[in-house]
Amino acid sequence: MKSHAKAVVIGGGVVGCSVLFHLAKAGWKDVMLIERSELTSGSTWHAAGGFHTLNGDPNVAKLQAYTISLYKELEELSGQPCGLHLVGGFQMADSPERMDFLRLAHAKGRYLGMDTELVTPSEAKAMFPVLDEKSFVGALWDPVEGHLDPSGTTHAYAGAAKKLGAEIVLRNRVIELTQEADGTWNVVTEQGTVKAEHVVNCGGLWAREVGRMVGLELPVLAMEHMYLLTEDMPEVIEYNKTYGREFCHVIDFKGEIYTRQERQGMLLGTYEKACKPWSPVQTPWSFGHELLQPDIDRIAPSLEVGFKHFPAIEKAGIKQIINGPFTFAPDGNPLVGPVPGLTNYWTACAVMAGFSQGGGVGLALSNWMVHGDPGFDVWGMDVSRFGEWATLRYTNAKVRENYSRRFSIRFPNEELPAARPQQTTPLYDAMLANNAVMGDSWGLETPLWFAPAGVEPVDHPSYHRSNDFEHIGNEVRATRERVGVTEIANFAKYEVSGSGAEAFLSRLMTNTMPKTGRIVLTPMLNERGKLIGDFTIAKAADERFMVWGSSAAQRYHMRWFWKHQPKDGSVRIHRFDQTLVGVSIAGPLSRKVLEKLCDDDVSNEAFRFMDFREMAVAGAPCMVNRISYTGDLGYEIWMAPAYQRKVYEGVKQAGAEFGIVDFGMRALLSMRLEKNFPTWFRELRPIYGPFEGSMDRFIKMKKNDFIGRDAAAKEQAEGPRLRRVSFVIEVPEGKDAADVMGDEPIWARTSTDFGTVQPSHGMGADRYDAQGNRIAAKDGAVDGDWRVVGWVTSGGYAHFAGKSMAQGYLPASLAEDTSDDVFEIEILGNRRKARIIPEPLFDPAGERMRA
Ligand SMILES: Cc1cc2nc3c(=O)[nH]c(=O)nc-3n(C[C@H](O)[C@H](O)[C@H](O)COP(=O)(O)OP(=O)(O)OC[C@H]3O[C@@H](n4cnc5c(N)ncnc54)[C@H](O)[C@@H]3O)c2cc1C
Repeated sequence: MKSHAKAVVIGGGVVGCSVLFHLAKAGWKDVMLIERSELTSGSTWHAAGGFHTLNGDPNVAKLQAYTISLYKELEELSGQPCGLHLVGGFQMADSPERMDFLRLAHAKGRYLGMDTELVTPSEAKAMFPVLDEKSFVGALWDPVEGHLDPSGTTHAYAGAAKKLGAEIVLRNRVIELTQEADGTWNVVTEQGTVKAEHVVNCGGLWAREVGRMVGLELPVLAMEHMYLLTEDMPEVIEYNKTYGREFCHVIDFKGEIYTRQERQGMLLGTYEKACKPWSPVQTPWSFGHELLQPDIDRIAPSLEVGFKHFPAIEKAGIKQIINGPFTFAPDGNPLVGPVPGLTNYWTACAVMAGFSQGGGVGLALSNWMVHGDPGFDVWGMDVSRFGEWATLRYTNAKVRENYSRRFSIRFPNEELPAARPQQTTPLYDAMLANNAVMGDSWGLETPLWFAPAGVEPVDHPSYHRSNDFEHIGNEVRATRERVGVTEIANFAKYEVSGSGAEAFLSRLMTNTMPKTGRIVLTPMLNERGKLIGDFTIAKAADERFMVWGSSAAQRYHMRWFWKHQPKDGSVRIHRFDQTLVGVSIAGPLSRKVLEKLCDDDVSNEAFRFMDFREMAVAGAPCMVNRISYTGDLGYEIWMAPAYQRKVYEGVKQAGAEFGIVDFGMRALLSMRLEKNFPTWFRELRPIYGPFEGSMDRFIKMKKNDFIGRDAAAKEQAEGPRLRRVSFVIEVPEGKDAADVMGDEPIWARTSTDFGTVQPSHGMGADRYDAQGNRIAAKDGAVDGDWRVVGWVTSGGYAHFAGKSMAQGYLPASLAEDTSDDVFEIEILGNRRKARIIPEPLFDPAGERMRA
């Protein structure tokens, strides 16, 4: 074994081998994988080997498509077959709601270059003859689904990596990790110590333990998972003989089941409700190529549904039940990337679908390590997306919830209950007493809307307008006409101070830094000139700045701040998290409320739009920003938690004579829509440039040099490829009215192929009818004169304007077209007329904010 390496990958499962292969392919020859036993000694060896492209997050779907397209190349490079069976698959819906879910997935596939198709149960039966048509209402066909040989595939990655110069050391456990002052890692193993610049935790079932070697408690937990194998079935043998091909795959949402052909019988796996964590606190190092004891009682309810939906499987004898553990993060997505606060410690773990995602994870991570950037939008997988609140017990509760609803629908207005409340502010009880419906915002309970007296404060999850619609409308109108108050603890808040603070922020941000007592809004870019943040910054004093950003991105942003923080101590960065909380008042009478609460002059002349001031409000020391995301006259008031109740109660008392109302996050988001304001992670993400994101006025090319300036200047000179725009959509009113949720395709009447739609990956199984005739795939992105040209990022109902609205991205050349017969947006399978609105519907000149 070598004593030095550029990078040591810990773990030889499918993920570690993929990371090793991609590092070697990216040009790092001096890379080494260390495996405690043989390759595939964790969850990989007993996997069912299924793969698919569909994923709720379009960015993850792209990485899955990449993974699947890689297998042929791997086979060629390594000479090792992956045992690919590309057979396609159906997702089966048993109810109208699940059919809506499939319509959404299909619509999304239109701009992802996926050739999915909606079909009837009998069409599905033609390729999966053992299903009971009467149990279903429809299905979605995905041609890029199949299964492979888990061990062969892992060895193909490993073999290809070795051919590219990488080294693999087997039967050698990593025992300890220590770091030298210069950042070098000492990877202490059973066979000696390796000095490495980088270490990658691909420990799979032991990822938590490999995290603990450096003091990390990664939010990852293994769950027991069972699938059964049947004896040979005559239906399978007959079908194979008649048509010369295998059964396709099937996912049955109702039963939380997946099933496919295995040899001449069937394989059927369950995500049972009574699920069971495995080794919830500590994974034993002694665990190896073993299986767990099957527990048929636990999966009996799922099997009952399965046997009803696929009666022939019940008749076939069960040959074997496999029970093995594999790992999940609280939201079911992997944990990938550099760990904030550590130098050159990387993770690629909690990969629950290694054969769909392993390749994409390896590519993203190797890009990140070699080029400093993952190369695409991996937010959904970023290890920084969880906060300190994602503890061992939190993870346990959330992973069980996530596992037991693996194939369940998550409605856009659905809040999941496990592990809540995790964090609360001092206003929590007051909010509940006011009939608030609470939501989870990065582990913090946050009011979403308020039920009036006599109305039950609960959400009815739906794809359509729901029971909150009328009440949100009332909150919005009262705020716009009078004044409203809301809690805003769920922002990220930082203080950047020191003699180098201004230069540091100026180097990171695209806008000029404010003068003392003033505020600016500013995006932040990476070196590739892509949007990685959007902040509000106030200059509190000469060497002290207050910074506000997206709550969910606070560890993501701290990682970036730390990376660029000068080493000479001239800049201090403090993240407040919940040690600074706030309330916001907004609406034309909000100044009258503030006036009653403070002794300072807060007239429009003395306290202008975009001013910042430290002053007492309701007798409590606060910081006040004259700014509001409602786009109205408004104030954000920040205080230590000990004062939050006092300020809130003061606001309510002072506001009573003006008819003040409580409003929640949903009303706030509705109000920002009619101002065309973007949101972070929906409209603004690392896949867009600042001009694409229509953030032009915040990009100051002539100020000092800033990170991403050259790339932004190039984007500006060449003209952005895409543009963010706002639409008004004509949606039929009534009980089934539905607004966009995000990720809907935008159609345009145009003959131009803009190439903004992802190209089809060109591989996929064919679909057949009941007679065995091949059905040609349709191009789902073209329909006569119409073609899919873009996608919705977010939207909903703008209650004050009284319009259904969406924001999204279009090819720049279409973004100026305001005609009303050129665009349509597909909502739940219905194409609705849409028109671009270049100016906000509410207060286009911004007079209310400045009044
Ligand atoms: C029953 C079952 C069915 C499944 N079906 C599918 C499926 O159909 N499709 C799909 O995509 N996925 C499936 N999975 C999930 C899939 O197995 C995982 O996504 C995948 O195995 C994750 O791989 P990994 O490399 O992250 O982890 P692992 O396979 O657990 O690999 C981790 C490796 O790290 C090594 N290691 C750990 N610590 C150390 C150390 N300190 N020193 C040296 N080496 C160390 C271990 O020995 C192990 O070999 C299934 C899982 C199970 C259990």
